[in-house]
Amino acid sequence: LPIVALVGRPNVGKSTLFNRLLRKSRSITHDMPGVTRDRIYGECRMGDVRFDLVDTGGMCLESEATPELSKDFEDEIFEQAREAIEEAHAIIFVVDGKEGLTPLDEQAAEYVRRSGKPVLMLVNKVDGDEFAAEMTAEFHSLGLELLPVSAAHGYNLPDVRDRVRRFVVDLDMPADEDDGVERGLKLTMLGRPNAGKSSIINAIIGKDRLIVSDVAGTTRDSIDVTFEKKNKRYTFVDTAGVRRRANIQDHLEKISVIRALKNSKRSDVTILTIDITLGVGRQDKRLIEFLAREKVPFIVVVNKADLVPRNETNQALEAFRRELRIVPHVPIVMTSAHKGVGIGKLLPMAEAMRQECEIRIGTGLLNRSLQAVLERQQPPVVKRRRPKFFYVTQADEDIPTFVFFCNDHTLVKQSYARYLENQFRKMLGIKTAPVNVVFRSSH
Ligand code: GDP
Repeated sequence: LPIVALVGRPNVGKSTLFNRLLRKSRSITHDMPGVTRDRIYGECRMGDVRFDLVDTGGMCLESEATPELSKDFEDEIFEQAREAIEEAHAIIFVVDGKEGLTPLDEQAAEYVRRSGKPVLMLVNKVDGDEFAAEMTAEFHSLGLELLPVSAAHGYNLPDVRDRVRRFVVDLDMPADEDDGVERGLKLTMLGRPNAGKSSIINAIIGKDRLIVSDVAGTTRDSIDVTFEKKNKRYTFVDTAGVRRRANIQDHLEKISVIRALKNSKRSDVTILTIDITLGVGRQDKRLIEFLAREKVPFIVVVNKADLVPRNETNQALEAFRRELRIVPHVPIVMTSAHKGVGIGKLLPMAEAMRQECEIRIGTGLLNRSLQAVLERQQPPVVKRRRPKFFYVTQADEDIPTFVFFCNDHTLVKQSYARYLENQFRKMLGIKTAPVNVVFRSSH
C-alpha cells in the first residue's frame, strides 16, 4: 500500500487529523477510558483507494512540547519526521493556522520539499470559511499546495478527504488486490534471536508463491514478505526486524520493543516465537506483558519441539501455560519448523482469531447476557456500595470492546471485571481474541 506520512511540528493537530482521516475506515473512539490507544499506523480507506497513514505525532511527545523548544527536542522531532518522510511515498504537511508561520515550519517545509516527494499542506485550526483566506495567506510563501481545515471542528474535511484521495490516486501505485486474490492477514513475527522466526516463516510459506520482498520507501528497514496460500494473500510485516534483531545486543532491547509495538499494531495477528529449550526469557516476558496490556491479538509458538523428548512436551507446555496466565485466552502452539510439525495450524488459527476480533454483537443479546451474568453473581460491595450496572454496548473498535455503564465505575473490582470478561467470552464464543471491558459511570 502507498504510505502517506503526516508531518509537522508538535501541537499543530496531527493526531486529531490522523483520527479524522482514519475514522471511516477503522474507527477509533476517544474520550473513553481504557479504549484509546496510541495509534501510529492506520490503514485508510477512501472509496476505492487504500493507503497507510503514518502519524509522527505520537512519536515526538507532542503533549510535552512547549513553545520554547530546546535544541535537542527540535532535533528529535526532526529525527522522527525524517524517518517518516523517508519511508513515505507522499507527505501531508500540517501547520497551525492560529499560530501562523513559524521558523520551525519553514525549516520543516524546506526539508519536506527536498525529499522530492509529493506534498500537500494542510493549514489546521481554521474554523470556517470566513477565516480561511486570512489564516492561510502567509503560508502561501512556502510554495506548497495548501488547503484550510479544522480537524477538531470538521471544517472543510470533505474537501480535504477528497483531495487526499486524489493525492493518493496520483501516486499511481499498483493496487494490491485487484486480481481476485482475497486479502489475507497481516502478521507480525516477534521473539528472541534464534528462536526460529525465520525458519517458521519459511516453513509456512513452503512451496507456496512468494510474491514480493518489498522494500518500503528508501529504507531497508521494513521489509514485508507477502505470499499466497489457498488463494489468499498474507503478509509478514517488517521481516527486516526479524533478521536485524538477531544481530543486536541487549542494550538495544528497548528499541525492539518499540518496534514490536509499531508492527503489532500495524498487523492483524502477532506471533511470538519461543525456543522450547530456553523457555520464557526476560524479553519474552516483557513482550507478553506488553501484548497483554495493549490487547494485541497474538499466538505463542513454542518452537524446536523436536529437541525435547516426546514424553516431556506436556510438562513443557504446562510451564508455558503458567507463564501466560495473565492471558489465558492466548493459544500456545508447539511446532518444529525443521520437521514441519504444527506449522499448518498457524494461519487457520490466526484467521479464526481475526474473525473473533471482528465479531459484532447486537445490544439485545449483550444486555440479556449482562442480566444473566449479574444474576449468577452480583458484583461485590465496595465502600459500602454495590456497583449497579445499567446496560452494556459494544464500542466500534478493532477488538471486541464492551462498555458497561454503571452508577460508579470506581466501585467495580478487578476481579469482577475479569469475571465479566470470562462470562462474556463464554456466552459470545470469543475464545482466543483479546477482549476489552470498560466501565463508565452514568446517571
Ligand atoms: P530467528 O533468529 O528467530 O529468525 O531464528 P532462525 O529461524 O534463524 O533459527 C535459528 C536457529 O534455530 C537455526 O539454526 C535454525 O536452523 C534452528 N531452528 C529453527 N527452528 C528449529 C526447529 O524447529 N528445530 C530445531 N532443532 N532447530 C530449529
